[in-house]
Amino acid sequence: MPSGKLHRSVSLLFHLRGRVLRRSIASASFRLEKSMLKGKTAVVTGSTSGIGLAIARAYAAEGANIVINGFGEPAAIETERAGIETDFGVKARYSAADMTHGGAIATMIAEAEAEFGSVDILVNNAGIQFVAAVEEFPVEKWDAIIAINLSAAFHAIRAALPGMKQRKWGRIVNTASAHALVASPFKSAYVAAKHGIAGLTKTVALEAATFGVTVNAICPGYVWTPLVEKQIPETMAARNLTKEQVINDVLLHAQPTKQFVTSDEVAALAVFLASDAAKSITGVILPIDGGWTAQ
Ligand code: NAD
Repeated sequence: MPSGKLHRSVSLLFHLRGRVLRRSIASASFRLEKSMLKGKTAVVTGSTSGIGLAIARAYAAEGANIVINGFGEPAAIETERAGIETDFGVKARYSAADMTHGGAIATMIAEAEAEFGSVDILVNNAGIQFVAAVEEFPVEKWDAIIAINLSAAFHAIRAALPGMKQRKWGRIVNTASAHALVASPFKSAYVAAKHGIAGLTKTVALEAATFGVTVNAICPGYVWTPLVEKQIPETMAARNLTKEQVINDVLLHAQPTKQFVTSDEVAALAVFLASDAAKSITGVILPIDGGWTAQ
């Protein structure tokens, strides 16, 4: 073969081999990514619905065993639990722990550790909302919001952190809110609880920093979930507005993108925070809010 032709054939061969190699590296890292959390266990509070369910499913898609938690129709919860197992080939159990009870939260963590051997990822996500002027704010609503949106995270972290520290690996993700960074009128309890979660996140991040455990807060803007849908009538009453005005002039008004954030976007961020690539990200209060808190 003339040397020019030989050179072309050899370089074509190398070119093709390079492409095949690049492709197999890409598919290997894809496979690796899809099982990034294999062997890990994630407890996601408030995951029978909305953002928590999306996070639970996203962790399961990465191979983690899952504990879902929250309220709802038993049959609907069982459908979600079984769906996680069949869709992703992992184990999923359900804990009915009420996030207003510290003892029940500690039991949920202990049971997960007993069943799966560890709780490696804890997502403190359960939350409720109530909208009213502070002088009319029902005392029991204040107490419930502080208990579920703030104190529950303390109880769960207190129970799960010792095992994470011992194993020198852990991820704690707190679902906070843009309301961890800015306030809105008529949401005194919610804003107080979410600002509290920001403080808890930073404090525990410092305590856990040398143990391979990261602690971060995700701060979504408005995500279309039952929690947001439910506050529309309350906001209509508190501000004397129509439903359309609440959606466009209150909710989407806050977000420069003029779009709701999606649960899947929040879940993707939670997956990233659980990755090894995010091991140096800790103590961060991270907005995912369409630009809301940039204003
Ligand atoms: P959601 O109503 O869809 O889900 C809330 C979950 O918490 C449900 O699974 C519910 O059963 C559970 N829960 C409520 N009380 C509980 C209790 N006492 N014990 C155990 N579980 C309980 O709401 P969501 O919008 O998905 O909210 C999830 C989290 O995201 C909350 O912390 C919320 O504050 C936060 N968040 C939501 C938005 C939004 O716009 N939807 C924005 C920012 C932050």
